[in-house]
Amino acid sequence: METNDGVAATGDAAADSPVPPAPESPAFAEVPEEVHGPLPVAELHLHIEGTLEPGLIFDLAERNGIQLPYADLDELRSRYEFTDLQSFLDLYYANMAVLRTKQDFADMTRAYLARAALAGVRHAEIMLDPQAHLSRGVALETCVNGVASVLAVSEEEFGISTLLIAAFLRDLTEDAALEVLEKLLAMNAPIAGIGLDSAEVGNPPAKFERLFARAKDAGLRRTAHAGEEGPPSYIIDALDLLDVERIDHGIRCMEDPDLVERLVQELTPLTVCPLSNVRLRAVDTLADHPLPAMLAAGLNVSVNSDDPAYFGGYVDDNFAQLKSVIGLSEFDCVRMAANSIRSSFASEERKSELLAELAASGH
Ligand SMILES: [Zn+2]
Repeated sequence: METNDGVAATGDAAADSPVPPAPESPAFAEVPEEVHGPLPVAELHLHIEGTLEPGLIFDLAERNGIQLPYADLDELRSRYEFTDLQSFLDLYYANMAVLRTKQDFADMTRAYLARAALAGVRHAEIMLDPQAHLSRGVALETCVNGVASVLAVSEEEFGISTLLIAAFLRDLTEDAALEVLEKLLAMNAPIAGIGLDSAEVGNPPAKFERLFARAKDAGLRRTAHAGEEGPPSYIIDALDLLDVERIDHGIRCMEDPDLVERLVQELTPLTVCPLSNVRLRAVDTLADHPLPAMLAAGLNVSVNSDDPAYFGGYVDDNFAQLKSVIGLSEFDCVRMAANSIRSSFASEERKSELLAELAASGH
């Protein structure tokens, strides 16, 4: 807040002054991050389990008396070379073994929020995969309440408003998902919506029509991963069959011009995760990423970190690499920051507040 107040004051002074800005405070040139702070954004595509950093994995393993199959941090880090989505998911699920208690989930959430605040995140919609914990014998109350206990104080402690999204594993059955959703509703879990994640290919949206209808009926917001590794038809089906309000990833829409036109017309939010796409080989290199083409097409895209502990960085790292590798302009970065805020499930009041903050941020 202090930084933003300071920037606003500097901006006003520059606007009122008849003389050109001094060389050390350029108005339009690249302004160092430390002058105006990171771009204020909403993070809409974030799996809390994917924020589990190697150091925390070792700390939690020690606390819970769990023997890890890695000798040290370096050996664990050496496993972070993925060939596809499944190779990542194998390590991702294995590392979750250290999450046993409510405190573990709370510590993981707190660590993410502290890092996200430095990245400029001002609103976060956080996905939790309850089924990935239930299958390990961890109670629904433990994982949900562990995360939620920290989200409840996030705005006060980190300046980040939050919403919790229960994501369902698409490689499991719809009945299994429905059972968990009913339990979440019965326990009055503080969830704002549902998502659909994990292994995409072979698990099309059609498999989860009843789940999403039930969620809508219960007044929950809806998003689904589609068009990451799966074909453009998965995006169409997520919209038509699941009635989702956002598409997570969605990069393969670019293979279907009619779909692109529809997404532009309907302003459908696509939560793009550039570093994730590179690490999971959805694109060969960041230079090959379709993001510039998506922006040029007029798509409603935002930048997100997905599973930042696994994919080489948080939201600020994604923006930094997009700027340095593909020369993304400040204008496009601000446009995507605004997209992220408008595409969130936050209240209209909170969105207005964040858009005003973005406008005053000096970016
Ligand atoms: Zn994801």
